[in-house]
Amino acid sequence: MEFRDLKIQYQILKHDIDFVMEKVMSRADFISGKEVKLLEGQLAEYVGVKHCITCGNGTDALSLALMAWGIGEGDAVFVPDFTFFSTGEAPMVCGATPVFVDVDKTTFNISAQALEQAIQWIKKEGALRPKVIIAVDLFGQPADYDALREIAEKYGLLLLEDGAQGFGGSIRKQKACSFGDISTTSFFPSKPLGCYGDGGAVFTDNDEWAELIRSLCVHGKGKDKYDNIRIGMNSRLDTLQAAILQVKLWQFNSYELQQVNAVARWYGELFDHRVIIPHIEEDVTSSWAQYTIVCEDKAQRERLQKALKAEGVPTMVYYAKGLHEQKAFANKYVSVEKYDNTQYLKDRALSLPIHPYLRKEQVKQVVELIQETI
Ligand SMILES: *Cc1c(COP(=O)(O)O)cnc(C)c1O
Repeated sequence: MEFRDLKIQYQILKHDIDFVMEKVMSRADFISGKEVKLLEGQLAEYVGVKHCITCGNGTDALSLALMAWGIGEGDAVFVPDFTFFSTGEAPMVCGATPVFVDVDKTTFNISAQALEQAIQWIKKEGALRPKVIIAVDLFGQPADYDALREIAEKYGLLLLEDGAQGFGGSIRKQKACSFGDISTTSFFPSKPLGCYGDGGAVFTDNDEWAELIRSLCVHGKGKDKYDNIRIGMNSRLDTLQAAILQVKLWQFNSYELQQVNAVARWYGELFDHRVIIPHIEEDVTSSWAQYTIVCEDKAQRERLQKALKAEGVPTMVYYAKGLHEQKAFANKYVSVEKYDNTQYLKDRALSLPIHPYLRKEQVKQVVELIQETI
């Protein structure tokens, strides 16, 4: 069994993907080919925002957003403690200080209550200027944007949605990657919408920021890339990846998102009450980047991993550490609390195989193995 089966997906899409790749290769316009612009239009339409700017990867996408806002030294950027490293790395690259915030124990997303306490603490302390909230759509479930938007407005902060795992999710009818003042995503191969290498995108309704980001991702270009009016970076999605993503977006929209939700439902129906399954909030749809159960303790998680591995079922631990425990951040972040929920989850969270091509018998096998072992 594969954790996320990209090989089956390729076999299904092979005819179309090979065809579009060959077209790009014969034309040899590997950078800035027409597929890039076309894809950006399709992504913006899918998400429901005015501008989509593709870039090199999801980490650069976060940096580009913070650069467009002029975030730097002395600025506090609020980041959930339980997430992939990039979410905290991007503010550091810009010279800002990440302030790690505990997450909600049931949704795994940033806790609005802990966030508000952290903002008040930073304001009272007075050493840093509170500027940005980065919310992550962890494991595919959009964060609590009703609450987060209210807090952002109350304290005059910008809201950045890290939708690297969230593309395709929604709250009511609104799609993920449209909730931030700027939102970002990643096309890393195993994300909900992945390409065949690295890729990412930035989304916004704001014309001025969109233009700035278009300049920043091509060496701070002015009229063209040989007219440089600011310091930027080189971060582009190449034409081959854009062509592949056009095929994959079609499949994602017409089949995969719906099907991966069916797979998650099978898990939910088959597990008995002893297993803590992912909690999706009312009115919210997940894109199921991960299907993460919460074990009783670390020992049980280890037992489960071993038993599943023996039967050829791969599992992953996302995440074994809070960001505040990563060596790279030592003495460089501001700690406002003890992160009780991160501490709880890092020992208990266990991610199981999930993807749109997982069959019901396979889900059954995973569920039975887990229930025999606990
Ligand atoms: C994967 C991921 C990123 C980074 O994306 P890359 O394309 O790998 O740079 C950022 N944030 C989160 C939450 C992610 O899961």
